[in-house]
Formats: sequence, structure tokens, C-alpha cells
Amino acid sequence: MQAEADSVTISLDEVRELALGALTVSGADHDNAEAVADVVVQAERDGCASHGLFRIPGYCASLKSGRINGNAVPRVDTARPGIVRIDGDNGFAPLAVKRGRPFLIEKARRSGIAALTICQSAHFAALWPDTEPIADAGLVAVSFVNSRSTVAPAGGKKPVFGTNPMSFAIPRGDGKPPMVFDQASSVMARGEIMIAAREGKAIPEGVGLDRQGRPTTDPAAVLDGVQLAFGGYKGASIAMMVEILAAGLSGGEFSFEAADNYTADNGPSKAGHLIIALDPQLFHDQFSDRVELLFRTMLAENGTRLPGDRRLQYRQRTPIECVSIPRPLYEEIMAIVSRG
Ligand code: NDP
Repeated sequence: MQAEADSVTISLDEVRELALGALTVSGADHDNAEAVADVVVQAERDGCASHGLFRIPGYCASLKSGRINGNAVPRVDTARPGIVRIDGDNGFAPLAVKRGRPFLIEKARRSGIAALTICQSAHFAALWPDTEPIADAGLVAVSFVNSRSTVAPAGGKKPVFGTNPMSFAIPRGDGKPPMVFDQASSVMARGEIMIAAREGKAIPEGVGLDRQGRPTTDPAAVLDGVQLAFGGYKGASIAMMVEILAAGLSGGEFSFEAADNYTADNGPSKAGHLIIALDPQLFHDQFSDRVELLFRTMLAENGTRLPGDRRLQYRQRTPIECVSIPRPLYEEIMAIVSRG
């Protein structure tokens, strides 16, 4: 560990230790703590501070308040052809995803396409850790998660939808890592707005409205008011689609219901989750070649890049350069670890 005035530099092993320690003393059993710590480490490794250690105090608070079950045992139902249904036992989503993914992959390989749904679980991680391992297994994956309502429908000023992220991952040949994109359907992810508020920075216009429905660049006013979907009414329709796919199909709570059932402990809210996996080999044997042609064509112009490339660059650098954590966050987590 290396300490500067405002930040602390730690290795990925130390990130894991901190996350595991804080989650365990807050009431998570080994399997649940490990599954969450895994996604926290992946986020820090890939330069996604908004879904790394930053989320640990919230995860711990929701364990301590009893809102989330730290001893959850996800119930995986594989009885239907092509479908894996998981009841998350009111725990964090990462363990449910981990338990269900092998069945999803196996079913998709058998029939070309399969889907996995999760209800009764709480998600506030990034989504690419859910889809990338499926692409690593040679399959195309797409994933949708709804959350607590913070985003207005088109023309509205009151939250109905969550920030409702989606992720898309495909395998690539020649030892290349999968191409993965992962994005909220709001203009800005809520975690980024929270970080801007914490750092006292303004956010761009168009990200959200204050409680009175007026445009503002003050992150605290948007957190208190409402976020906007990207791309106006088109993004709002995508946010609505994510609600229906993630919560409607899984039997999970819609984001406005999750908001009603949320106690303000700063932890993740209940969410529905859908992951679809497709075996490209069973669709078209030239799939990989055709996609590489598309990528080459896109990348022929200066200024373009593939989604996920920034993350992959961090992934190479972080094990060498380690991770810089804001000192107040580091001290907050250390206090959780030592006091429980
Ligand atoms: P960003 O807007 O930062 O990035 C979205 C995607 O666009 C990334 O895949 C990114 O790749 C790619 N991208 C960015 N710039 C370019 C570019 N110039 N050319 C090509 N691709 C580009 O993400 P968001 O702020 O929307 O979301 C951040 C995270 O928040 C996500 O991981 C999301 O899952 C998570 N989230 C989770 C929620 C939950 O409830 N669990 C709710 C909402 C969001 P790269 O990473 O390489 O820059």
C-alpha cells in the first residue's frame, strides 16, 4: 500500500481483501462475499471506479440493515427447455449469476439459444462481468438489468424507470478478448453522478432535472430530482424495454416498485435480470469472419475504437500500476472492516 495525501494506492489482492473483509464482517457468508468481491475486483482492474470499492459501503449497509440476505442460496430451476430461472433468495446478484451461468451456456450450446432470468436479487454492479465469461465460452451474450426508479419516461419529470443497463458481448477469434459493451440507458450512470457530487464537480446539461423539473448541472440536484434517458424518447423506449425484459420476464420488481420497497441504506435495490446466450456456430459458420470484417471497416477511420478497449487497456495496466482509491473511501472501508 502506498499513501498520498488524497488517495491510497493498493494492489488488486488488497482490493479483494478489503472487499471480502468488509462484506464478511457485515454478515455475508463466504460464497456471497466472494461473488461480490470478484465483481468489485474486476471493476477496479478495468478502471470502473463507479462499480468497484466505491460500492462496498452500500453493499455492507444493506447487509447490516437486513434488507439483503448475506447468506442467500440462489435457487436454480432448469426444468424448462432453453430457460434457466433463478430465485436469488434476496441476495446479491453476482452469486445467482455465477450459479446459473454454466446451465445457461450448456442450454445455449445444445439448442443455439437460451435465456436466464433472476428475480429476488439486488444488482448494482457493472454488467460486463455477467456477459464477458459467456463470450469467453464462445457464445454471444446480451444482458439487461432494471433497478430503482430514477429516470423519467419521455416527456415526464418523475422517475419511473431505473438507469437500466444493458451489455452485449461476442467472442472473437485469434486469441482476441471478446468485444463487450456495457451501458446505462440513462445519459449518465448514477454512480458517475454520485462520484461527481462527492468531488464537487458539475455534470453536463441534459443529464437530469432537479426536483422541480428544471434542467440543472448540479449532481446533487439531479440525485434529488430525476435522471433522463439517453437520446430522448428513443432511449426512454429502450429503458422501458429493459424494464419489461428484466423485470417482466423474471417476475422481479419494476423499478418503481423497487423504489417503493427501498430503505435508504445506500445499498443496491432489488432488480430483475435477463441474460440471453446464443451459439453463433449454430447460426452461421462465417460469423466470426463477418464480424471481423465489420470491425476492420469501423476501425479504418481515425478516431474510432471498439467499445471495451478502454477497459482492456486498464486491465493490462492495473496489475502493474495498482489502483488509486480516494483516501476517505479507503478509511470508510477500513472502519467497516475493523468495527463490523
Ligand atoms: P459509459 O458511457 O462509460 O460507456 C458505455 C459503453 O460505451 C462502454 O462499453 C464503453 O467502452 C463504450 N464507449 C465509450 N466511449 C466510446 C467510444 N468513443 N467509442 C466506442 N465505444 C465507447 O457507460 P455508462 O456510464 O452508461 O455505464 C457505466 C457502468 O454502469 C456500466 O458498467 C453499467 O453496467 C453500470 N450500471 C449499472 C447499473 C445497475 O443497476 N447495476 C445501472 C446503470 C449502470 P469502454 O468501457 O471501453 O470505454
